[in-house]
Amino acid sequence: MSLLSKKDRLPFQLLAGKPGQSWILLGDHAGSFFPGKTKQLSLSLADRERHITYDLGIKALLERLFILTGATVVMGNYSRLVIDLNRPLSYADSVILQSDGIPIPGNQDVNDQDLRQRQEEIFWPYHRAIEATLKNLLGQGLKPKIMSLHSFCCQLNGQEKRPWHAGVLWNKDDRLAGKLLNFLKGKTEWHIGDNQPYSGQDPCSFTLPFHAEPLYLPHVLLEIRQDMLESTAQIEDWALLLADFINRADPIN
Ligand SMILES: [Zn+2]
Repeated sequence: MSLLSKKDRLPFQLLAGKPGQSWILLGDHAGSFFPGKTKQLSLSLADRERHITYDLGIKALLERLFILTGATVVMGNYSRLVIDLNRPLSYADSVILQSDGIPIPGNQDVNDQDLRQRQEEIFWPYHRAIEATLKNLLGQGLKPKIMSLHSFCCQLNGQEKRPWHAGVLWNKDDRLAGKLLNFLKGKTEWHIGDNQPYSGQDPCSFTLPFHAEPLYLPHVLLEIRQDMLESTAQIEDWALLLADFINRADPIN
């Protein structure tokens, strides 16, 4: 028996971009749903609405950016607690046992078959959709540019409040990251982290090293602090700001 049934939604949501638009926007952690069979991993409603379950605000931001830019959007539908779309499958926290001090009950006794189903029915379909989108854009003679959007919580494990309003993350290729960093610093008074609060050079990330680096496609990961995406007005401000960047970013060859 498979993990996803007819009653479940697809593993990802794809919003097809307008012709000629070379940008693709990703939301690895945008989804907050659980396949019926997982019984919401036995988490309380309160925990399912918290940052441990998904990146708050990102789905709404991506939907607005799709309207404003016509970029293709691919975002996960299921919670990162079911399987993390931005972790190599070989990593222990691909299916995490606890997050921010909260044990995830439904992940404590995951057997090999459960694990394979999460990989085959959720993880790989999302990444194949990204792969197909890139192939399609390249086939049209376009040079895809990728922005992966995430949000991070203000405080983790009882530490100090994180001072960055947003962070631009990059690994080996800073072509697009450098432009976004300068743009955000020039347009706002915010404290923008350069590979902070996380580093793109941490080997635990999967999506951009897997899709963008082998093809040398310009790419960047943006982390936005969650308290900046709480209201519709805040999300709209970010959408307008990033649409401005996307619509003007100089071509990168
Ligand atoms: Zn994230």
